[in-house]
Amino acid sequence: MFCVECGTEGPVYEGLCAKCFLKKHPVVSPAELLDIARCTSCGSFRFRSGWSKVDRELALPQLLREAMPPLPPYERVGFTHVAREEDPNNLALTVKAVGRFRDLASLQDFHLRVRIKPSLCETCQRQRGRYYEGILQVRGAERELSPREVRAVRTFVVARVDRSDDAKAFVTRIEEVHGGLDFYVSTNALAKGLARDLAGAFGGTVSSSPKLYGQKEGREVYRVTALVRLAAFQKGDVVRHKGVLAEVMSVRPFVVLRDLRTGEARRFKPKEVRGARRIDAERFEARFARLESREAVAVHPVHGRERPITPRPNPNATRGVVVWTDEGVYLSGLPADSVKD
Ligand SMILES: [Zn+2]
Ligand SMILES: [Zn+2]
Repeated sequence: MFCVECGTEGPVYEGLCAKCFLKKHPVVSPAELLDIARCTSCGSFRFRSGWSKVDRELALPQLLREAMPPLPPYERVGFTHVAREEDPNNLALTVKAVGRFRDLASLQDFHLRVRIKPSLCETCQRQRGRYYEGILQVRGAERELSPREVRAVRTFVVARVDRSDDAKAFVTRIEEVHGGLDFYVSTNALAKGLARDLAGAFGGTVSSSPKLYGQKEGREVYRVTALVRLAAFQKGDVVRHKGVLAEVMSVRPFVVLRDLRTGEARRFKPKEVRGARRIDAERFEARFARLESREAVAVHPVHGRERPITPRPNPNATRGVVVWTDEGVYLSGLPADSVKD
């Protein structure tokens, strides 16, 4: 076959060789300037379908497709580009547009200037506007949270939200209230999800109460307050439960209490140990000394006081982890550095 335009021999499309076909049918009508919007806060780009957090190099081909549809008779167009950054908001692009027509791939190249307009996406606008829907309250069960728990809870929640794939998930503000923490979060689902995660990680119970907040587009809008009550004690604590002095080996999914006098461990449901009370105690690795009676005593590493150990340690043991309380000194079933306030 011969091109009707230039006479070249080879495959023809509507009578034209590939070169003449492209001359007669450009793939796109190239824009000279493309203005695109990027959120200065989260880096999202605005597409026709909405804001999306993608890399600039991935955003550009899609933005080019939106700006320049294929001209007939091409059915599809794909873009590749090389970007030269003049400054962070101005790019000089060399673009290749490949138009598909039957088995023909026509290549058109051109230059294009891209201006990035600093903007704020809807999610970030809401965040700036202190928008919130749900409230997550974290409290202790009949006690105040310790400063260490407050830090741990705060870190846990912030990390969980940062790692979330949901661009609509954010914390608007965090308030330290007497004995606990309040988190104002973007959605009710987020408040409930965080409450569940916290209770799972720290041991505790969750309740939530929706409150009618207002109307939006004819629908009733609720604000959910999700309340987490962290267990009265944590792993490593020493508690008195029904007269038994015990150390807490674990708080989830079951509470495991180990009787300090006998060393026997028992498993409870959280509600079965609601009456357990924390006892002041220290846990550390102590040196063992022997009295003339051969009885072993633990030596306090700070003030050097010596006290007998219950139950009696192995006769050859020279050191061991003990729990030191007003009532006595006991061999511990936990390592010295286990979680403890
Ligand atoms: Zn030709
Ligand atoms: Zn944003």
